[in-house]
Amino acid sequence: MLQSFRSRLVISNLLITLVGLLVIVFVFTRVLSDRSQSIKRGSLAEESRLVTSQVEYLFRHRNANFEAALQDLVNTASNTLKVRVIVAGRDGQPIYDSTGATPFFSGVYHPLDRKALQQERVVSQQIKSSSVRAFQTPLEGTRGHLIGAVILVASVSVVSPGLIELHDVFLVVLGTALLVWLAIGLFFTFSISRPLIRITAATEQMAEGRYDTRVPARGNGEIARLATSFNVMAQQVQQTNRVLKDFVANVSHDLRTPLTMITGFSQALLDGTAGPDKSDESAQVIHDEAVKMQHMVDDLLQLTRLESGLFAFSRKAVEVQPFVQSVIDRITRAHGTEQVATIENRVPARLPSIDVDREQIERALRNLLDNALQYTPARGHVRVTARLFGREWVEIGVADTGIGIPGQDVARIFERFYRSDKSRERVHGHSGLGLAIVREIVERHGGRIEVDSVPGKGSTFRFTVPRARAPEAEQEILPGRESVQPVRQ
Ligand code: ADP
Repeated sequence: MLQSFRSRLVISNLLITLVGLLVIVFVFTRVLSDRSQSIKRGSLAEESRLVTSQVEYLFRHRNANFEAALQDLVNTASNTLKVRVIVAGRDGQPIYDSTGATPFFSGVYHPLDRKALQQERVVSQQIKSSSVRAFQTPLEGTRGHLIGAVILVASVSVVSPGLIELHDVFLVVLGTALLVWLAIGLFFTFSISRPLIRITAATEQMAEGRYDTRVPARGNGEIARLATSFNVMAQQVQQTNRVLKDFVANVSHDLRTPLTMITGFSQALLDGTAGPDKSDESAQVIHDEAVKMQHMVDDLLQLTRLESGLFAFSRKAVEVQPFVQSVIDRITRAHGTEQVATIENRVPARLPSIDVDREQIERALRNLLDNALQYTPARGHVRVTARLFGREWVEIGVADTGIGIPGQDVARIFERFYRSDKSRERVHGHSGLGLAIVREIVERHGGRIEVDSVPGKGSTFRFTVPRARAPEAEQEILPGRESVQPVRQ
């Protein structure tokens, strides 16, 4: 039970409340008792002076009844004030002690404070460590000379009735405070623990695979922020899970077609149903499908490595114009005698170099050019351009006069496995990973990629890559170099 957050909060709250109240009760009682004792001391000191002045009167008007009158006075004072009264001579010997007449403090004897007596001071002393005090007042004779002292021995621990009443009121106030304190404490305990309990329950649901679980997040407090973070995390987990599912579904779907072809044709070769005249054709199909699968696996591996962030780029300065030309040459060679659209290199020769991983950017450019040739008829044109973009970037463009991309697909073509015309791509064997790889490569260089397309007229892909650092002299001519990529107008 003590392991739950809520019970711990409740118990700690209770303990804090109780300790707090005990401290208050203790302090209050101490203050109350000190105050009461000081009041009592004051009043006893006053009584002591009064009794002394009456005793002095008897001494000054001494007659035959002196002793009886003194006894009477002392006993009456002792009884009414509930104190022990001692009238002592200068030598400290009691002339009369009320102990004989009253039982109060009979055991307590207080010797005379001779020093105080000589100095004719009024003294009040605590007797040992008890709450009993002795009030000693000097006794003056007829001519004002010192004849002894009157000592009142009394308890000062009794709390006065007024203070007892106050004590009761205090207890009522304290009780009410305790209840209010507990109510407020419990309210906050529950309001703090409720969202945490909800988040805990939601985490458990997530662990069970219910990724659509969300928790309410109101306000800007820490717990609301925790709930918001949980929701964001849950959304990301849900999205990752969906992407993973889609990914597995896409990969298995895309692998099934070539695998079916390979199985079918190899079976035909094995059991002889292909016939000797068809065996070359069957072997060709098997080879082509295997190559498609190999490309797809290569693309997948490449994308996974790029996305993992573990892939180390080795960047260096690359001159754009010759670089573009070398990629075009390679593609043209690969197509051989095949009828494809013409590719034009329109990159200005004096353009500053770019700071890129040559192999990766070549792959990105090749993917774009392959796509352009793929979706452009043989009589069409593909143009590669490049220009300085802001002070820090170079923008490379691949424009074709091909079939274009339907408006609803433009935003999605960079997603993995996305193909705008699925039946068409399946025939060509494209997996829908090419542009995802391009985007990943460009973004790993800090650049951006975008596309403009008009269906039936053509598409233009543009991406930015960092310009190579200019030599010192050039840097001086270009003050205020921007480090942020400018936004395209
Ligand atoms: P794929 O490997 O299938 O070409 P990509 O990721 O390279 O996959 O391209 C995704 C989709 O974008 C393609 O299936 C195609 O529909 C569309 N696409 C890409 N480039 C072009 C282009 N130059 N012209 C028209 N459509 C294109």
